[in-house]
Amino acid sequence: MSEEKMEFQAEVGKVLDIVVNALYSNTDVFLRELISNASDACDKLRYAAIVKPDIAKGDGEFKINIIPDKEAKTLTISDNGIGMNREDLIKDLGSIGKSGSAEFLNNLTGDKQKDATIIGQFGVGFYSAFMVAEKVEVRSRKAGEDQGWLWSSTGRGIFTISEEENVSRGTQVKLFLKKDFEKFAEAGDVRTIVRQFSDHISFPVVMNYLGETETINQATALWTRNKAEITEKEYSDFYRHISNAFDEPWDTLHYKAEGTIEYTALMFIPSKTPFDIFQPDRNAKIQLYVNRVFITDQTPDMMPNYLRFVQGIIDTKELPLNVSREMLQKTPVLTKIKSGVVRRILGELKKKTENTEDYLKFWNAFGTVLKEGLFEDSVNRDEIADLCRFNSTESEGVISLSEYISRMKPDQKSIYYITGDNLSVLRNNPQLEGFAARGIEVLLLTDPIDEFWPQSLTQYKEKTIKSIQMGALDLKDFSLLNETKEEKCLEDDLTLLKELAKEVIGDEIKEVRTTERLTKSPVALSSGDGECSIHLERMMRQHNQPILYSSTHYFDINPYHPLIKLLAKKIKLGEKGDDIKSMIQILYDQAKIIEGEAVSNPAGFSNKVTDLMLKVLNL
Ligand code: ADP
Ligand code: MG
Repeated sequence: MSEEKMEFQAEVGKVLDIVVNALYSNTDVFLRELISNASDACDKLRYAAIVKPDIAKGDGEFKINIIPDKEAKTLTISDNGIGMNREDLIKDLGSIGKSGSAEFLNNLTGDKQKDATIIGQFGVGFYSAFMVAEKVEVRSRKAGEDQGWLWSSTGRGIFTISEEENVSRGTQVKLFLKKDFEKFAEAGDVRTIVRQFSDHISFPVVMNYLGETETINQATALWTRNKAEITEKEYSDFYRHISNAFDEPWDTLHYKAEGTIEYTALMFIPSKTPFDIFQPDRNAKIQLYVNRVFITDQTPDMMPNYLRFVQGIIDTKELPLNVSREMLQKTPVLTKIKSGVVRRILGELKKKTENTEDYLKFWNAFGTVLKEGLFEDSVNRDEIADLCRFNSTESEGVISLSEYISRMKPDQKSIYYITGDNLSVLRNNPQLEGFAARGIEVLLLTDPIDEFWPQSLTQYKEKTIKSIQMGALDLKDFSLLNETKEEKCLEDDLTLLKELAKEVIGDEIKEVRTTERLTKSPVALSSGDGECSIHLERMMRQHNQPILYSSTHYFDINPYHPLIKLLAKKIKLGEKGDDIKSMIQILYDQAKIIEGEAVSNPAGFSNKVTDLMLKVLNL
């Protein structure tokens, strides 16, 4: 069969465009990517050979060869791993398989310098070869198959594919180096770079140069080594190797569990939020090894969802080597290991809270995700709550629930919170006035997830957790800091005002209530106790979600406010005309605006306000 020409998938085209123009600041990473692919390929074949030993027949000693060729100005990275057939080559080296990549790449701006940083976060894997090579040839033969293939491209729009004779099992990636990168056709720099990040590769990395052969790495599995002998750099190189990330780990947790179930865990918490952390199919990247043999990194639920930012490996002797996918899902061994690892991670995080500044780096990157644990993980709920941090009315930065409790009023039984779109709007929300006047702290919650977890974490250290936007709150038990409160409106007058207001506003609200929550503002909106908040309803509308259980709305009036008192008095005196009604309507619309809601009739609202202004000016 002759050569076939094919086009790269559109996203790859974009990536290549940036990569080919070599705007990457750190070009050395191409070697890391190619060696990492070679190592993955050996892992895959070693695993496949457990059930089908024939497949690796004749060449069971896995290794990775690096061959710089000064004369030809090429660098070849070859492995005797699983290999690729025609379909694999087209799919794996012609498209980007990572989930969420299309969306991610849509963020590219067209400004090559900026885009290079975006792509830097994303990791371009194989395509990074085109940073240093003007042409790349990949020869590959898949384990168990006879036909070899040649894939070739200059990284500009198309690649070609054809049959190739005499290809040994595995993959050889040959880079025809660009003029500026001819140093990679010699041993020096290549050796230095490979040494930097191949120590944790568990296969020998061997360099062949000018007829000499040298093994560059130790080829031991890092996690089996003694913790005291591993440097921070080795850990962080390993982290980058398994995560394909470019940041440093924020924290490394490495331990051997001994006891009922023995395993070794090496876990990393990244310092940067991965771009796909909110993709629906994002999982924690946990590699499972059985006695140092890589089994899979595809077991779902290796970590609970709320720890999906964790990356790492688990190695155990307690599972058979040929453990099947089905078995992995069911085996109690893994369940026990998992719950052990989760407890260790939560314990580690707890320890890390002691250094507030450092902990906040983690919290800012992953707090939103961790909070999901408050409703996901009923077993560890309290431990997770210990780790959470929140903004509050009484503090500039974030605080823990324990700090909140330590500042509570003597008779205070609840932890109060309010939810909304952003901090500055929340801080000015009139619903907070009554709390501020009494010196009661209120947590300010702005993450969408904050609408959900309070339904699961209803208590913390015997204090109930309560929204100040729902239900009728009794604040009378707490004295005002400043006891010069206005006189209250007469009850009879209020009743008439409430009746008229209900008539004017109609079915949008269930009831007009008086509230102690307001001091400076005349009115506010709230929803029923235990119902979904007005903020949540709005979020669901914005995301076109069906509103499953819409809540009852209440129009709350402040019986101490002069405007309310005056209005009530007028109504008592028999004034129920259009002026009074339109003032009530304006007040209600104001309450909606303050809550972040749109008024139902914006033009009507605006006309009413204009009329009012005219009247005032004509007085
Ligand atoms: P990633 O390694 O993150 O999947 P890459 O761009 O590095 O992304 O590689 C894409 C895919 O190409 C790999 O997932 C693998 O299936 C295939 N591949 C790359 N290099 C090799 C190799 N040396 N042997 C076998 N398959 C490979
Ligand atoms: Mg790769």
